[in-house]
Amino acid sequence: MKIFLVLVITGSVVFCEAQKKTDPVLFANSIKPENLKRHLYQIAGPDFEGRETATPGQRKAAAYIENYFRSLGLKPGVKDSFQLAYPVYRDSLLSAALQINGQSFDMNKDFDLRLANAYTLSLGSSEIVFAGYGLSDSLQDDYKGLQVAGKIVLALNGYPPGQLSAHINNKTFNAFAKQDAAQLHGAMALLIITDDFPHKPVPDGGKMYRKYFIPKTHLNSFLISERIARLVMAEDYDKVKTGPIEYKTYQADTWISIQKQTEIMQSTDVLGYLEGSDLKDQLLIISAHYDHLGKKDSIIYFGADDDGSGTVSLLEMASAFSKAKAAGSGPRRSVLFLANSGEEKGLWGSEYYTDHPVYPLDKTTADLNIDMIGRSDPRRKQGDSNNYVYIVGDDKLSSDLRKINVEMNRKYTGLELDYKFNDPKDPLRIYFRSDHYNFARKGVPIIFYFDGINPDYHKPTDTPDKINYDLMAKRAQLVFYTAWEMANRNKMLERDLPPVVGER
Ligand SMILES: [Zn+2]
Repeated sequence: MKIFLVLVITGSVVFCEAQKKTDPVLFANSIKPENLKRHLYQIAGPDFEGRETATPGQRKAAAYIENYFRSLGLKPGVKDSFQLAYPVYRDSLLSAALQINGQSFDMNKDFDLRLANAYTLSLGSSEIVFAGYGLSDSLQDDYKGLQVAGKIVLALNGYPPGQLSAHINNKTFNAFAKQDAAQLHGAMALLIITDDFPHKPVPDGGKMYRKYFIPKTHLNSFLISERIARLVMAEDYDKVKTGPIEYKTYQADTWISIQKQTEIMQSTDVLGYLEGSDLKDQLLIISAHYDHLGKKDSIIYFGADDDGSGTVSLLEMASAFSKAKAAGSGPRRSVLFLANSGEEKGLWGSEYYTDHPVYPLDKTTADLNIDMIGRSDPRRKQGDSNNYVYIVGDDKLSSDLRKINVEMNRKYTGLELDYKFNDPKDPLRIYFRSDHYNFARKGVPIIFYFDGINPDYHKPTDTPDKINYDLMAKRAQLVFYTAWEMANRNKMLERDLPPVVGER
């Protein structure tokens, strides 16, 4: 009996060691075109209504992903929940009024405002100060000698003739230059004259935004018509339009009122967690965004390639890793399958995750991010259009990234690895344009997998019938093999290369 027991134990140890070196091919091959297709016709189907962040379509997609993660036996990624919620805000305008000398004007006909930059207020003043172009920078100071504190300022749109590029290239330039100049000099509100009225009404209020607590509030400003300008300035307006600027204070009983309401909404990232074995405190992340553009009127933006393709690849990679674990070949490091939302709005979900990481980022060996891997780039003229993938970011932050990805591809998938979009100076700035960038900015090594920009990009015609499922499966398998090696090797990836910083 005793001898028999020892044999059994020894046998099982040998078995485990052998499994560690298991060929991942069996599991990679479980990522099949037909499975990806089945998921994608759901994710990018009419039921999910284009999956716009903080809408019912997004919530349906999140539930679908969560249910699939559950069916695989993944653990909830956030304590006892699969979904990591973050707040989203949306403004609506309740009322806006402008009255001068007893005359009321209509929104869009004679005045307009940018809802996102407006805040609720009501104010009256008996004077309006004309401040030329309303600039106050190192090139021009329209406020020199003007007393505008507590008053309403009126300014021309744009820049003095011939000075546009000088101002735009000026270091201090920003989109709120006029508001900020007026605010700095103590004005209560700014009226900017434009000649393009009437404006088309913007349907249904404001855009969603992510950060309510901004560091700086800019002064409320209205765009106003030339009709109002002539009412205030009379013949002076046409003089300054064509001739020299004459700064002047006008008597005008002016009443301004804005009432804005902010709705607090919510969106979620979906997190499925597969616990590792001896290195389970370390983590590999595989990510893809599941949100898209939603619907405009009744037209659905299906987002099959963008990024239904990454989402369903994530699902099938989770399935492949779960199968490996069930067969005793689970990864040594834990793997987090991260389906982000808010990407199309501005990388919100990944920004939220990386600002509030559920697992420490310094224990996160890498993020492998997929955004669009189901189509071919019609502008790619060299090579085999049915056997390539664009690789972005693998030469930054860690010298291990490219070595591993190239080696796995050489060994298993044999795709053409195309580095065209890898240059951060590339005009498309792909390195900064999907969720991986939020990991990169925090120093986590990343690889981004991408198929290029196709003619249906961000159009309602990005549909699941246009996907090359065989090619998509092969690309997903490359991500899987790379993930397999990163999750199982002895050391985390070295962080030996400098980060690349930039603005989106
Ligand atoms: Zn995308």
